Amino acid sequence: MLTKVIEQSKIDHFTKWFDRADRIVIVSHVAPDGDAIGSSLGLWHFLESQGKTVNVIVPNAFPDFLKWMPGAKDILLYDRYADFADKLINEADIICCLDFNTLKRIDNLAVPVEAASGRKILIDHHLHPDNFCSITISHPEISSTSELVFRLICRMGYFEDITREAAECIYTGMMTDTGGFTYNSNNREIYFIISELLSKGIDKDEIYRKVYNTYSESRLRLMGYVLYSKMRVYKDCNAAMISLTKDEQSKFDYIKGDSEGFVNIPLSIKNVIFSAFLREDTEKKMIKISLRSVGDFPCNKVAAEFFNGGGHLNASGGEFFGTMEEAEKLFEQALEKYRPLLTAKK
Ligand code: 5GP
Ligand code: MN
Repeated sequence: MLTKVIEQSKIDHFTKWFDRADRIVIVSHVAPDGDAIGSSLGLWHFLESQGKTVNVIVPNAFPDFLKWMPGAKDILLYDRYADFADKLINEADIICCLDFNTLKRIDNLAVPVEAASGRKILIDHHLHPDNFCSITISHPEISSTSELVFRLICRMGYFEDITREAAECIYTGMMTDTGGFTYNSNNREIYFIISELLSKGIDKDEIYRKVYNTYSESRLRLMGYVLYSKMRVYKDCNAAMISLTKDEQSKFDYIKGDSEGFVNIPLSIKNVIFSAFLREDTEKKMIKISLRSVGDFPCNKVAAEFFNGGGHLNASGGEFFGTMEEAEKLFEQALEKYRPLLTAKK
């Protein structure tokens, strides 16, 4: 049995909307990750199975390693089909906002979502959600939005209607937001849910291979290059940083997703508890910052204070407008400031 994480009043409230709704739109955050796509498609499969007309809309493209997911081909990208998406959002009875806590995280998609007259529900696990939905299901203690979607469907009484396809999407989100169940994954109920998903016929080993073992040769060479030549280890701060410029990306035929997970690698060095990955984003002309930590070091605080960002305790990010050298310097300043916390003896 699962603990009743989501308040009963919210389940009842959403059920009321759901019974009367016909057209539903699901939106998720920019640069969608496995949990954004997994939770959106998991919910999409379920709602479709109940005879609703459902569309998933995300601000921009998602990585190739998620394209195998059942339903992925039908996801609308807002940066390509804004007019059509605007119409769907306008006409929706319900708009489900998944895996983000503030409208800023959905880029231009925020404009039609904010203006829409449909009822809005937030299902998310990031800290401090803004108040832009009538129902806010926000549980930072839960490791993925996909898990929350599973819990919501079950609490509404529809476990039986979860198909293998929906289960595959939900599992993918749970797996990717916990690094294959290697962090944020000590809640034993996660494993109960996995067992339930397995009962739907998912092949979890195959899902792992499809997500993590389908990279290109150039990605692997890029990884070799950054680890050998670009990784700086700050032993005195128990931290590390990797940066990747535009020129380096073109040298390795970089495509979106090629540096996915790089930020985690330095954490496998003994004593390194804080890691940063800085990448020049050619589209947006800024430096995208990814931060990861282990234990209780709050990388979301560093993201907010230095890089105009935020996120979770152990996984956060932000943006920097300026040169790579300036971004690197700023990260080093952050290390100086946080040195006491980084070097505190446990
Ligand atoms: P990633 O490093 O995978 O891009 O992002 C990890 C987490 O950091 C995301 O799930 C999100 O919570 C947070 N995050 C990443 N970039 C930003 C940003 O620019 N602003 C905010 N507020 N959070 C971010
Ligand atoms: Mn998530």
